[in-house]
Amino acid sequence: MRQGEISSKGAWTGNPSGGVKAPDPIILPDATTRFARTATRLEALAVGHPMATWLHFMAQLSRAQQVAANALGHLAGPTQAAVDLAVAARMPPLAADGHERDIAWHDGLAVLLDTLDVDATTAPAREVIAALRARAPAWVEALADGFLQSGVDVEDAGAALYVAAALQVYFTRLAADLSVASLRLLPERGLCPCCGSTPVAGVVTASGQTPGTRYLHCSLCATAWNHVRAMCVTCGQGRGLSLKGFEAGSDAVKAETCDDCHTYAKMLYQAQDTQVDPFADDLASLGLDLLVAKAGWARHAPNPLLLIGAADSL
Ligand SMILES: [Zn+2]
Ligand SMILES: [Zn+2]
Repeated sequence: MRQGEISSKGAWTGNPSGGVKAPDPIILPDATTRFARTATRLEALAVGHPMATWLHFMAQLSRAQQVAANALGHLAGPTQAAVDLAVAARMPPLAADGHERDIAWHDGLAVLLDTLDVDATTAPAREVIAALRARAPAWVEALADGFLQSGVDVEDAGAALYVAAALQVYFTRLAADLSVASLRLLPERGLCPCCGSTPVAGVVTASGQTPGTRYLHCSLCATAWNHVRAMCVTCGQGRGLSLKGFEAGSDAVKAETCDDCHTYAKMLYQAQDTQVDPFADDLASLGLDLLVAKAGWARHAPNPLLLIGAADSL
């Protein structure tokens, strides 16, 4: 066993008297701060931004998500035995596409919509919210299944924004209550070890016990997991990787492009800005996406809050 691997008892192996400390493989989200932090960052990034109105709206949505997360509190997640069974089979214990959702997530959605409705929402957004409220629970469940599994029809994209936001709240709540010691990275290193979803972006740390470590952040449950640098998030190759910035954007945000699979993923550098937040900084750097897409690279995975039409429903 090499240094940095996990022993069968779950403890880090390595030199106990010093030497290089291995990074934590998995960091679970804090459901009491995750969405408030994103909201604060979005508000800061909106200042002087060409898409300020939209970023302010997304900040309101994040604040409403935090209210919903606080209202939901602790949920009855999978039993430890079920988690252990999934992990032993190298499966994510909260598999987004197979997990049987607790109906409580509808309560979270209701709180989220109530909160947004009160907070200066635009007329088109209010229309979408009213229509979503009038839907039967079965319709909402089907939309959630579509979002997590097969995709969403364009005409439902407006409602899907709020359903996706409520699912983020629900899965973040569940992930936060897992026992980190019982989890393992998946063989597919580009997928979340808790729910199997794709990451929204990567963050390269500048402080803590292991500065310079890359963590990918789950787009659904906000779990962060270690992913070695110099290895493509999508295909695992390292030969054709390069970083591309955006002159008009922040130095802290780069697109890591891969010439092997022709995809890119966003990487955020704490050394350039200690306040980077993967969810907020991804939304505020859409200009970089446009630039890199124009040059021929496809994004590794979509941001769940950026489905087709989402920005048009304001
Ligand atoms: Zn996840
Ligand atoms: Zn690749």
